[in-house]
Amino acid sequence: MNFHLNEEQVMLQTMVREFAAQEIAPKAAKLDESSEFPYEAVKKMADLGLMGMMVPAELGGGGMDVLSYAIALEEIAAACASTAVTMSVNNSLFLSCLMNFATTVQKQKYIPEWAAGKKLGAYALSEPGTGSDAANQRTTAVRNGNTYILNGTKNFITNGPQADAMIVFAMTDREKKHKGISAFIVEKNFPGYQVGKVEKKLGIRASSTSEIVLKNCEVPAENILGQESDGFRIAMATLDGGRIGIAAQALGIARAAFEAAVKYSTQREAFGQAISQFQGIQWKLADMAMNIDAARLLMYRAAAMKSKGESVTKEAAMAKLFASEAANMVTKEAIQVFGGYGYCKEYPVERYFRDAKITEIYEGTSEIQRIVIARQVLKEVTS
Ligand SMILES: Cc1cc2nc3c(=O)[nH]c(=O)nc-3n(C[C@H](O)[C@H](O)[C@H](O)COP(=O)(O)OP(=O)(O)OC[C@H]3O[C@@H](n4cnc5c(N)ncnc54)[C@H](O)[C@@H]3O)c2cc1C
Repeated sequence: MNFHLNEEQVMLQTMVREFAAQEIAPKAAKLDESSEFPYEAVKKMADLGLMGMMVPAELGGGGMDVLSYAIALEEIAAACASTAVTMSVNNSLFLSCLMNFATTVQKQKYIPEWAAGKKLGAYALSEPGTGSDAANQRTTAVRNGNTYILNGTKNFITNGPQADAMIVFAMTDREKKHKGISAFIVEKNFPGYQVGKVEKKLGIRASSTSEIVLKNCEVPAENILGQESDGFRIAMATLDGGRIGIAAQALGIARAAFEAAVKYSTQREAFGQAISQFQGIQWKLADMAMNIDAARLLMYRAAAMKSKGESVTKEAAMAKLFASEAANMVTKEAIQVFGGYGYCKEYPVERYFRDAKITEIYEGTSEIQRIVIARQVLKEVTS
């Protein structure tokens, strides 16, 4: 497989890198400190077409492939991981889910404004009692004439407080367990919809994360995605794509930390020489560089395969798992290279370290990625 980027992808990368360095990076520390949602950055990203990159032009999107999207996301994440996840959820969990599973009428209603970044989307699978065990949904949806009545609480929903609409998963038939889950497009102004507790977090503090409380929430029957009981399949297929985005986010965070560490190591002196001259520091830099490269190759492979419409369950899980663990290793080592200064807010590496942790948790923890990969490996052996 050839991973040389084409001319358009290189241009996109350069454009987003410059934009992120000028418009996003300078504000990232302040937004992190105040936990403010990056409204201004989202508006500017929308103007550049970054909020609906993979949506076809006729529905108001950029018509780009998955690899182009991942390249752009890495650049945004290198500047601000919070802004990157806001972009990622709208692109890969909300819009891609609709592109794959919505009817023509649903697409026309729910895609153009979200692809243009005028409205924001979210994805609500997790609940207080169930995260990894997503099949065990407690939220219920009961058909009542032309509506479904949804009851339950979703938690940890990225973009929750700002989302204009989201994909909500709920049980329509508990007897059938995961085969009884259905997916719905739920708007924030539907009766019975409420934003609940907003989380205070270790990292990605400018990204908003909240509960969504559904109390006899009335959802028009035409807002079901696919058929009743298609929900679990829709949720898992959507996460395959989403995990490529999280791999790109992790990669961006790791790259930013690595670049900061390399630069600092050439400037900081100890024992009469730059610390980059010490083999102990060089080995750290070598391991960081190698892990970043390996993560990028896995991420590019998954993205290129997805662009071709191939199944990427294993490849996306590998990319997400490896990139997130690389980001955690690289950001931790970056602090070590900075010594005491790395632990303080004067430099951004402590933020990268805090931001990296979530990439091992959301869209499936590292333990769950290993289960997904092992299942695929065993399937390949026995098939
Ligand atoms: C900031 C943030 C944003 C998020 N955004 C969203 C969002 O937009 N939409 C959404 O739906 N969800 C979102 N989530 C939820 C996230 O996907 C879950 O937190 C995650 O899936 C883990 O679920 P949990 O927190 O319930 O942990 P649990 O499932 O309770 O897991 C606890 C621990 O047990 C381990 N574990 C569980 N099962 C197994 C097993 N079978 N084998 C080995 N180990 C296991 C886990 O790996 C973990 O280490 C977000 C979470 C956070 C923190």
